[in-house]
Amino acid sequence: MSAAYDTSVMNEANNQPPPLVDYNLWQHDPALRAAVEREGGGWIEARAAALGALLGTERLQWLAAQANRHTPELKTHDRYGNRIDAVEYHPAYHELMAVAFGNGLHSIAWKPNPGGARAEGGQLAEGGQLAEGGQLAEGGRHVARGALLYLWNQLENGVACPVTMSFAAVHMLRHDAALAAVWEPKLLADDYDPRPLPVAEKRAVTIGMAMTERQGGSDLRANQTAAVAANTHGAGWFALTGHKWFCSAPMSDGFFTLARTAPGLSCYFVPRSLADGSRNRFHLQRLKDKCGNRSNASGEVEYDRTLARRVGEEGRGIATLIEMAHLTRFDIVLASAGMMRAALAQALHHANFRSAFGRLLAEQPLMQNVLADLALESEAATLFAFRLARAFDAGLSDSATDTRERLLMRLMTPIAKYWLCKRMPAVVVEAMECLGGNGYVEEAPLSRLYREAPLNGIWEGSGNVICLDVLRSFARAPEAKEALLAEIRLGGTVIEPFAAAVETALADAATLEVRARRVVELMALALQASLMQRHASPEAAGAFVASRSGDWGRAFGTLPASAPLARILAQAAA
Ligand SMILES: Cc1cc2nc3c(=O)[nH]c(=O)nc-3n(C[C@H](O)[C@H](O)[C@H](O)COP(=O)(O)OP(=O)(O)OC[C@H]3O[C@@H](n4cnc5c(N)ncnc54)[C@H](O)[C@@H]3O)c2cc1C
Repeated sequence: MSAAYDTSVMNEANNQPPPLVDYNLWQHDPALRAAVEREGGGWIEARAAALGALLGTERLQWLAAQANRHTPELKTHDRYGNRIDAVEYHPAYHELMAVAFGNGLHSIAWKPNPGGARAEGGQLAEGGQLAEGGQLAEGGRHVARGALLYLWNQLENGVACPVTMSFAAVHMLRHDAALAAVWEPKLLADDYDPRPLPVAEKRAVTIGMAMTERQGGSDLRANQTAAVAANTHGAGWFALTGHKWFCSAPMSDGFFTLARTAPGLSCYFVPRSLADGSRNRFHLQRLKDKCGNRSNASGEVEYDRTLARRVGEEGRGIATLIEMAHLTRFDIVLASAGMMRAALAQALHHANFRSAFGRLLAEQPLMQNVLADLALESEAATLFAFRLARAFDAGLSDSATDTRERLLMRLMTPIAKYWLCKRMPAVVVEAMECLGGNGYVEEAPLSRLYREAPLNGIWEGSGNVICLDVLRSFARAPEAKEALLAEIRLGGTVIEPFAAAVETALADAATLEVRARRVVELMALALQASLMQRHASPEAAGAFVASRSGDWGRAFGTLPASAPLARILAQAAA
């Protein structure tokens, strides 16, 4: 961010920093760039740099603020009393959606050649490496897409919700060849078309998911929505009756949902418009008045003989949808890492301009300790997120043969989801405090980030549920413990105490459930320490390992006095 630190723009008389605008989120994040390159997504560099520059502009920041200030409105009926079940959004929201979907934030991981064209002379312009024999290698598509999503989440999180659901929906659609043939090309179009039309008439579509019911979100077995065959509409069609208590991005073009028949819960796909041009009966009862995530609408929905297609095996609905949740949890990891970086960037920027007691805040030893500690947390989160992205590339590729990476993908997703969602709100609060009173006003991007911060820990599996999921993975796969420990031990002998702590924590099976949070926390710290040891600078790695083991201070700003704070800070804000 050195380019942004032009002290000539500061009003020295009032000691107020200029706003952090017109900086490149990609260029000024060395940990991100190195991680993306190392984990196989380096080919995204040009696109990431362009998006990073765009997201740093004053205009995009203004759009994000507008879309969250002017929140979506529900219009249940038109002026003649006909049901329309529509949500009206501020133009800023539509513009942000167009930027996000237009940049392929939801799609590039699923395209064989995401970058598209070859440059002249047969070289690949971007989008992957040429494998031997001139074939396109798939390399790093989830890493590359992850880079864009990480950048996006530093600007605006409401739009990230439909992006993530649409991303995960591609994987789900592929369960049903007929459905995929119609919907996938429109889902993968890097375009945004908000018109409420049948899929055949649209340039591009978005897809959401509606599972949670009043009586239970974590325990989906409690779902009561009923499905009955509706053969008059053709084979494979069902009519759903029931409700969904949370349904985000309700103007999406289709939804994966759960409903019950005699054999149990199955997964269904609900199009919002039917082929004849009529709207499906998808009644929006009201919109939630949410703490944050306000640009994005989240509605309560009633199904009244709503037409749907079954996806996957009858009675296997939860198993089918868990695959989708796995991908959305991965996105939450990337988003949370990005949000930590956003908070850190604001804090570093402020401290580099604001003086107190005769010195810049950034020069005060105790503030340096706080900022350096935040920088370590942000870097460790970034390394974890992109290591996980590599596991997704290996584990989900069409030719996936790497069973160890597939297992690590399964194990590390909930571990990272739990820990990054716990750390991110703390990072945001601490960063806000670095700005003093200026951090606590609505104009400060940190206020929006603060209201957003707890959400990632709630949706797609709340903390306890996620920790229990980790334990289940270990119980199901006897080789899981060895795979995790082997990954941790790549960090060398200095990481051994972390690995030993994980082994000890897993030993007493009888008490695992009640200790699940502590066990998962130890796993997350061990993985992060290992990654920091391997990939961060010696200064940052040393400080992370020293501070995150033993008698670790409970608040940020408690790094040991020996930690090279100025070096760590210089590296974080290159
Ligand atoms: C803004 C927002 C948007 C949302 N959008 C959608 C959407 O688009 N589609 C959708 O389907 N859902 C959506 N949700 C719902 C969300 O996924 C659920 O709120 C979440 O899964 C938790 O379910 P619940 O609210 O029913 O809480 P509960 O399941 O009642 O859980 C409450 C608490 O109990 C804990 N708990 C549960 N079981 C156990 C256990 N066995 N042991 C210990 N603790 C336990 C949980 O961790 C949690 O802390 C959204 C939620 C929010 C806030």
